[in-house]
Amino acid sequence: MKLPVQTFKLQGPQLIDPGWFNTVRGGRHNATVTPAGTVLVEGVELSLCSTGSGRPDGVVPVPGTAVEVWLEDHFVCATKEELRRASEAAQARLDEQARAERDARNRCRDEADAFNKGLRLPIAWTVGIKDVLSGLADGSWGDGRNRASVNHVLLRQPLSVGRLRRNANDFLCSSNDRLNGKRWAGQPEAAAFDGDGKRYQPKVTCKRCVELALRLSKDHVPEASQGGMTELQVVRVVHLDEAEREADDSPSP
Ligand SMILES: [Zn+2]
Repeated sequence: MKLPVQTFKLQGPQLIDPGWFNTVRGGRHNATVTPAGTVLVEGVELSLCSTGSGRPDGVVPVPGTAVEVWLEDHFVCATKEELRRASEAAQARLDEQARAERDARNRCRDEADAFNKGLRLPIAWTVGIKDVLSGLADGSWGDGRNRASVNHVLLRQPLSVGRLRRNANDFLCSSNDRLNGKRWAGQPEAAAFDGDGKRYQPKVTCKRCVELALRLSKDHVPEASQGGMTELQVVRVVHLDEAEREADDSPSP
């Protein structure tokens, strides 16, 4: 593996002992720069060239400098100090990537929390997905979700507003009877994980669920005021009837 590190080219003897070569061809080997300006590796002296990669030519490590030697397309060495610097820089890059990913995941969580809080349904609900099996296919997030899967409002209690009738464990966008007779009861909740690996409810992404939830929450009137609909309730029921008909026409994924 080529490291992003300043190296010096090494020149071997004309004739290389195959046994020695087999010993040193793999891995990195500790060595020290000799007073003669060579590097002694497993009993064989290699000349230290002033050329290399990632550094100005003409400067070589002074005698006594600790180096490591390895084989790329030719033998090279780098000082221990340089290798430590490169390793720390690589680790810093990894740390930075991890921090950026953690921040991005937490931003997603905050956005989902804020969005879902805006769906003020009058009954208990959670977030559910229909296509659990696709989580095992290509495009999986690796946490059981699929990039293409849609997050729905999964009702925990029955809901009845205007022509909209839903049972507990129905999705808001479609009742169970319309899902080819499949029983979706016990549907697992959708889950996402934030930057600290904590589970949270992902954002509801089903357009129909969002649309219905917004209409239900915006004009919600408590059931206590039954026995004569207010004008607001009538408007709301009409809107829901429209939404229900649209939902009939275009079942959501
Ligand atoms: Zn939905």
